[in-house]
Amino acid sequence: MTSTQRIVDTFLDFYRERGHALVGDATLITPDRDPVLFTSAGMHPLTPYLEGRPHPSGQRLTGLQRCLRTTDLDEVGDDTHLTVFQMLGSWSLGDYPGETSLRWGYELLRDGFGVPDGRLHVTVFDGDERSRATWESLGVPLEILGEADNWWSNGTSGPCGPDSEIFVWTGDGPPTGTPSTEPRWVEVWNHVMMRYLQQPDGTRGPLPRPSVDTGMGLERMAMVLQGRSSVFDIDVFEPWTRAVTDRVVVDHLRSSVVVVGDGVHPSNTGRGYVLRRLVRRVLTRLWRDDPTRSLGDLPVEPIAATVEQFRLRVDPNYVQDVLVYEERRFGALLRRGRPIVERLLARGPLTDEDLHYLHDTHGIPRDLVEEVFTEAR
Ligand code: ATP
Ligand code: MG
Repeated sequence: MTSTQRIVDTFLDFYRERGHALVGDATLITPDRDPVLFTSAGMHPLTPYLEGRPHPSGQRLTGLQRCLRTTDLDEVGDDTHLTVFQMLGSWSLGDYPGETSLRWGYELLRDGFGVPDGRLHVTVFDGDERSRATWESLGVPLEILGEADNWWSNGTSGPCGPDSEIFVWTGDGPPTGTPSTEPRWVEVWNHVMMRYLQQPDGTRGPLPRPSVDTGMGLERMAMVLQGRSSVFDIDVFEPWTRAVTDRVVVDHLRSSVVVVGDGVHPSNTGRGYVLRRLVRRVLTRLWRDDPTRSLGDLPVEPIAATVEQFRLRVDPNYVQDVLVYEERRFGALLRRGRPIVERLLARGPLTDEDLHYLHDTHGIPRDLVEEVFTEAR
């Protein structure tokens, strides 16, 4: 079985052999002026270099980057989406063209990772003739899609362009359908032809030097190579799934560990609030089954395993203390809030005025009322 660590080594070695310098793993914490709260893709910390600034390590880069996507929260718990995940990446900063990137990608998947030809399918942006011709010459089945599927941008501004996504068949029998019609085609790798710079007002101009940005989801690749039907069944999740069964709980706890490890504390705004909501969702689910459960009873091993995997510079016991402290606060808020909300509900559905009152006078946020107090009725 190909371990997750082996995938990392194979990927990075492949690109280092092709002249790529290793860039370090940045934290999840984005710079102040960034439009989003957390690093959401491998390219994210490289944005200034994709926009034209020379990178000190050169024009060919590779690396492993931790990512957090709040936009995927509703999908977490399915087979392929995590809140925090790791992305392997390769970059050509105005160096080789997209065709080279696709050819290397194909070579790495086939020869480096041993994915058989017949289990690959790709999608290509309608109008990207060069990518289309490249895949055709390699004999890989392709599907042409539009901007909704094959255009990459990180939020509303920054470098962007058409992309080509690579899918691996995960079904038991022979492949059927295409990526857009059959979910057993799992997207593992995206190659983005970074050609444009989008302004916050939506207008696009050319990038000073066309670049290529690729991102491979590490947990998804492990799922495929380890023959598992979900990312929750791969090797690095074992310490978690030994301790917890619920997928969402596993995901949110593991994600919280990484967020705390990157220096975030639960709070009522910004990153701290994302962390607070992750922990609260965990507790809501745990307490629905058994109100006596506590994060203090969680073994420290899964936390320690995640700290190690993400190379966080934090003591796992400290992380657990932060989670347990947040649990106490949340428990107290529920005990205090429940009778107040019940009293209001006895008079009928909550009005906007009620929600403001609960928030301003009692510190009970709207989403908590909606997700916890009213849902349980
Ligand atoms: P999907 O459509 O499956 O959500 P995406 O198009 O949002 O994927 P990209 O933004 O292209 O994905 O990210 C590059 C790679 O990162 C994907 O090919 C996938 O392997 C991985 N990836 C993306 N989102 C997640 C996630 N939430 N959890 C785990 N891996 C992810
Ligand atoms: Mg997505």
